[in-house]
Amino acid sequence: RAKHDGKGIFKVYSPEMGNKMRRYHYLLEELRLAVARKDFYLNFQPIVHVEDCMIDYFEALTRWNHSIEGMISPVEFIPIAEESNLILELGDWIMLEACRQMAAWHNAGLRKVRISVNVSGVQLKHRSIYDWVMATLTKTGLSPNSLMLEVTESTLIKADSLIIKELEKLRKEGITIAIDDFGTGFSSLSTLADLPIDVIKIDRSFITQANKSKKYLDILKTICELGQKLGLKIVAEGVEEPAQFELVKRIGVSSVQGYLVSRPESSVNVGNKLLNKNVSNMSGSGTSAWEI
Ligand code: C2E
Ligand code: MG
Ligand code: MG
Ligand code: MG
Repeated sequence: RAKHDGKGIFKVYSPEMGNKMRRYHYLLEELRLAVARKDFYLNFQPIVHVEDCMIDYFEALTRWNHSIEGMISPVEFIPIAEESNLILELGDWIMLEACRQMAAWHNAGLRKVRISVNVSGVQLKHRSIYDWVMATLTKTGLSPNSLMLEVTESTLIKADSLIIKELEKLRKEGITIAIDDFGTGFSSLSTLADLPIDVIKIDRSFITQANKSKKYLDILKTICELGQKLGLKIVAEGVEEPAQFELVKRIGVSSVQGYLVSRPESSVNVGNKLLNKNVSNMSGSGTSAWEI
């Protein structure tokens, strides 16, 4: 992309915007091929109870290892998949694979652990999420009680009454609904009472700031108080340090997720570590979290 200008200086002859557009269209075409080939895999990150560090859920996080580019972050490819509707086909694979994997772990003897799957707003708009999720559960044999769906705050506040009804129907079946990245979508706290949710996942930015800023700490405390009053469970995302763990525990968060407990890991690693020991406790910190 760089061209020698003859004066010993390299000049990028396409403006930055052009490069961004080129990468976007390149990734879009690559994504199309990857979706057709199901060229993805899932990593799993534990969400643990704050009191005893027992695993409650694994969040399924999608990974794309591109043959030339290497790992491409979901932060980059999920929005492209959404804008192109490729997320519909990719999302089918993600839900099926996540439920299939958890059902397999259950069948191998891991009982109480549940799976949490991110669902995009595009998937909610294009068809009945109720029919789709229930069909996937039937296909994989996973029980509704073992599934949580994560929908971001910004998606939920835009959701129309039809989508809200679909989510309510799923809750009646025993499926858990979480509001993801809470605190970034600018909903008012009062809307929490009306949303069809069971769990609040507080965005990592609040956890990062709470130890440094009184303002963030106060917001965090308010969210926890209100959540508790509404009977919601609260998960703190992105807990990296023991001090953050202690803080969220003190103010009433029910569960934590973050590098302190474990990074997202491959299904093989999770399977080996959990099934060999036949445990679901991840107490401890950092990478030693598995050694109990
Ligand atoms: P998310 O759903 O909020 O997922 C949590 C993200 O935070 C994950 O990033 C996870 O690896 C990261 N994380 C967890 N603990 C820590 C920590 O202690 N410190 C830091 N710095 N990060 C932590 P990841 O896997 O890169 O995914 C990013 C986002 O991409 C997700 O945010 C989600 O919005 C989206 N995404 C990933 N997989 C899927 C998927 O299967 N479907 C959809 N619709 N979106 C997905
Ligand atoms: Mg999530
Ligand atoms: Mg999140
Ligand atoms: Mg997040």
